[in-house]
Amino acid sequence: MKQVVTPQELREARALLKNPVGFVPTMGYLHNGHVSLVKLARQSCASVIASIFVNPAQFSPNEDLNDYPRDIPRDLKKLEQPGVDLVWLPTPEIVYPKGFNTWVDVEGVSIPLEGAMRPGHFRGVATVVAKLFNSVRPDKAYFGQKDAQQVAVIKQMTRDLNFPIEIVVGPTIRELDGLAMSSRNSYLNPEERKAATILYRALTIAGAAYAAGERNGEALRTLMRKAIESGPLATVQYVSCADRDTLQELDRIANGALLSLAVYIGKTRLIDNFVLV
Ligand code: AMP
Repeated sequence: MKQVVTPQELREARALLKNPVGFVPTMGYLHNGHVSLVKLARQSCASVIASIFVNPAQFSPNEDLNDYPRDIPRDLKKLEQPGVDLVWLPTPEIVYPKGFNTWVDVEGVSIPLEGAMRPGHFRGVATVVAKLFNSVRPDKAYFGQKDAQQVAVIKQMTRDLNFPIEIVVGPTIRELDGLAMSSRNSYLNPEERKAATILYRALTIAGAAYAAGERNGEALRTLMRKAIESGPLATVQYVSCADRDTLQELDRIANGALLSLAVYIGKTRLIDNFVLV
């Protein structure tokens, strides 16, 4: 597995790879959710490129950029095993050199939910992904359903900017008790780790109500809110029952929906979602 740092090194190494090339962008501190995307890419691409970059532009000043967990040696082992060919590890100075002044703003789908709670977050995400796409020039790029709104933003940007890249979405990978895998789970102490299962339980309760015929969006939001409020250490930031593509809240569900939520467990902010079909 080759490692590169500069875009020039990346271009040279990429030119030697067989097409089609699959690309898995990450912020590192990898878990089986990331690995599942690599495996998915491996299945349908001749070569796989991964990137590890903790993108400062997608963190607000009050967020956890400095505390974000990092362990490059461990990450490299996790990528090598499922067969990544090339890892790009750019530095912040390479991605955002002095004088950098161009931003990608995806309107509409970036505005509610995560966009409302984390101003500037999706501008940072869209900008870095556009830059990564331009350097890597993959045929397919792999993203996790865990970050459902990010998927909608990236799909919109890919269409709008004519990137000739297929966006492939992998399912959310969970711990045995249902907690969605996340690099941020490492912030949880044992008591918080137990409490964090409330996100999955709240989604399961609302999902079961939907399966039993409930089609009122507000009723499903209320079920999730009540479930979370009944759990220890948990504070709701938002609960949502929205259109899967536009992320607009639904009163009545006609053609499926996205249930999503953001919850503080102690000081750690976690997100999760279920797609209702
Ligand atoms: P991150 O390193 O958190 O930026 O995530 C990199 C990619 O992995 C994104 O496309 C995420 O949606 C995806 N990802 C993160 N957690 C999971 C998970 N539990 N299951 C599947 N994909 C995930």
